[in-house]
Amino acid sequence: MNEQTLDWIRLQKALSVEAERGYIDIMGNQYRFSEFICLSLGKPPKNISTGDKIQWHDVAQKFANYSNLSSSQRKQLVIGTRNFLHKQKVLTETPSTPPNPKTPRTAALNSSQAKTYFKQEISLDMPLSKVIDIGRRSNYLERLGLYTVRDLLFYYPRDHLDYARQVQITHLEAGETVTVIGTVKSCKCFSSPKNKNLTIFELVLTDPTGRLKLNRFLMGARFGNPGSQARYRNQYPVGSIVAASGLVKQNKYGITLDKPEIEVLDGAGASIESIKIGRVLPVYALTEGVPADTVRKSVVAALPAAKYLADPLPRELRNQYGLVKLKNAIACIHYPENWEELTHARRRLVFDEFFYLQLGFLQRRQELKQKQKGASFAPEGKIIESFNNILPFTLTNAQQRVVNEIFGDLGKADTPMNRLVQGDVGSGKTIVAVYAILAAIQSGYQAAFMAPTEVLAEQHYRKLVEWFNLLHLPVELLTGSTKTAKRRDIHSQLANGELPLLIGTHALIQDPVQFHKLGLAVIDEQHRFGVQQRARLLGKGKSPHVLTMTATPIPRTLALTLHGDLDVSQIDELPPGRQPIKTMMKKGKADRKKVYDLIRREIAQGRQAYIIFPLVEESEKLDLKAATEEHKRLSESIFPEFQIALLHGRMSSAEKDAALNSFRDNKCQIIVSTTVIEVGVDVPNATVMVIEHADRFGLSQLHQLRGRVGRGSSSSFCFLMSSSKNVEARQRLAVLEESQDGFFISEADMRFRGPGAVLGTRQSGLPDFALASLVEDQEVLTLAREAAEKIIAADKMLDNSPSLKQELEIRYRRLMGGDILN
Ligand code: ADP
Ligand code: MG
Repeated sequence: MNEQTLDWIRLQKALSVEAERGYIDIMGNQYRFSEFICLSLGKPPKNISTGDKIQWHDVAQKFANYSNLSSSQRKQLVIGTRNFLHKQKVLTETPSTPPNPKTPRTAALNSSQAKTYFKQEISLDMPLSKVIDIGRRSNYLERLGLYTVRDLLFYYPRDHLDYARQVQITHLEAGETVTVIGTVKSCKCFSSPKNKNLTIFELVLTDPTGRLKLNRFLMGARFGNPGSQARYRNQYPVGSIVAASGLVKQNKYGITLDKPEIEVLDGAGASIESIKIGRVLPVYALTEGVPADTVRKSVVAALPAAKYLADPLPRELRNQYGLVKLKNAIACIHYPENWEELTHARRRLVFDEFFYLQLGFLQRRQELKQKQKGASFAPEGKIIESFNNILPFTLTNAQQRVVNEIFGDLGKADTPMNRLVQGDVGSGKTIVAVYAILAAIQSGYQAAFMAPTEVLAEQHYRKLVEWFNLLHLPVELLTGSTKTAKRRDIHSQLANGELPLLIGTHALIQDPVQFHKLGLAVIDEQHRFGVQQRARLLGKGKSPHVLTMTATPIPRTLALTLHGDLDVSQIDELPPGRQPIKTMMKKGKADRKKVYDLIRREIAQGRQAYIIFPLVEESEKLDLKAATEEHKRLSESIFPEFQIALLHGRMSSAEKDAALNSFRDNKCQIIVSTTVIEVGVDVPNATVMVIEHADRFGLSQLHQLRGRVGRGSSSSFCFLMSSSKNVEARQRLAVLEESQDGFFISEADMRFRGPGAVLGTRQSGLPDFALASLVEDQEVLTLAREAAEKIIAADKMLDNSPSLKQELEIRYRRLMGGDILN
């Protein structure tokens, strides 16, 4: 695939991500969305006319002004740009194609008719507008990024509903998905007396066994006018026979169907015509304003083209892993006859998603191996020997094992290390990194240690500088707030090789930073950095060894597969003497008083406490206010006898430092903070962690916060304050009450919120899978990995399987589109 094509995909993906996120001008690794689009559109393809080029620049200009646009203006611009780009792409690819003749309107869109109508014409690359005359609808489809028949076929439903079961009214049972056939007794459509914006539609049906009332609740002004309400009513005349499908639910008015799909039949006994009633029905993820039926009907029209899909997977491989053919899988993922078909289709397509990703990873790994030569560092030497002597504790077995794994990598000159260390909060990852750093220095190389926040970088510096002083080794800290003179000093010491270790934030990857001989890059909390940022750090040396660390550990098979090109080590043991942290959910005044009393008792024994407030992006100001006010309330009315520090993201680095230092030195007993404290702050004397509005945090984040206490040898407490009555929220928090195991918690978190939210999809370079679930589909994932390994072992560059190679290029690029904004 050439550069040109890649750009189109990136651009379209950026636009669709922005639409998904609600037009917030999302931040990529390097650029904001609007900047990225503006820059990209500033460079139109060469083979277009001057007129078109001017248009490109016009659109780019509009994005330059994106930040001043209202949300709806942004939306219009994004949609308009997607269409524009699509048309431009078609132009550049087929410059001589005449405009498409208008196809006649198709009366019905059920699958048999669609088949006959398009018998000769339909093909995979045909534009959708040619296949199905949907008037304004093709616009809707473009909004979803769907332009060709192939696009639509690969637009998998996110769910299916089983409407295949016809049930009589008297036999309805809550929780089942069914179809009911009945006669309309009455039909009303009116505005809610309480909420003008809400229109209520009410249909009463009977069958020989009973009576059923169905409601639909329609939000929005467009349903509110009497004309549209009358039209709605008239669709269901009294006496007509209808089929209604949906999930049976029991509410206080009796039994009903939740969000029913209703279709009027020609008469009793008439076959159910609708494409959705009485069968397994696909449900598609939609963008606002795209009617669900539009997508369903269009899919039905496009499905006949599925038979042209060639299968890139060799037959032996399909047989070996029990996979159905691609064309069958595609047909059945949309409209399966039954659940079994659906299961087979899904399994095949999930396999594909994992398989191509693995294939891509493995190939990249091959390429790296061929290209790079690392430096080899010996673990034996004076520096490490002296360090062993000054270390105030012995390594845990897990730490020792991981250090050995790292030394093994560092000793090999032929390939640089690329290792991820996973370990729960407090498992002692830093010290493991220090061993690697010292090995590099011992062999005459420099090391860089990058952390995601100033607070964390400073803490690492503080700890390491003690040790480094004892070892008579210089070390410096470089962050956004390092003074210019100091900064220059650091730059020159780095460049001439005097400085063996630089700790810092993103400041490390900026341009003036040049190493004399960078041999090792350590990246803490790696999931907080983008692919590109990591790459830039590595670019500061010649194939340096890389050690990344994460405190959001995930199951090993998953980590191996996800980070397909990394080796993974686990520190699965905590340093000795740690006590479990007593964790409890709390709500209401009485509970709060008990929590405050406990804080008093702990402080009386010389301990300290954290009180954390969430900082949610949308209401950053409000939350800051909450933290600031709470600080005031606590200092004045609750704990006037104690010193209470305040820490939040809007403070200058110096202020933050001062607050943290006073807490670290026990000059203040309580620190009230927003989540800037989250990452790795280490004050072993603190024993109480109070998290306000705990339900607003993800489990992994809560676990990290909790990990700020329990670092010393005395027993610690974590209180999850939440007044939420939401059952799921309380279930989530209960996981923390029950478990202290980071692996278990991250897996639970993935189940609740999805892996993307937990691992930071776009940040970690983790792909968006259309179907596959990293939690549910681990077995298929393992198979796909195995299959990919076999293929690569036999045919490294896929020279003998051109169709696989081609498919890989398309799929891998698309999947890894996660880092598009770079
Ligand atoms: P994390 O894995 O969360 O980054 P740190 O590296 O910050 O953990 O270590 C947490 C604390 O445990 C630090 O105070 C560190 O000095 C201490 N520590 C690390 N390893 C050991 C050990 N083997 N024995 C005792 N304490 C240790
Ligand atoms: Mg850490």
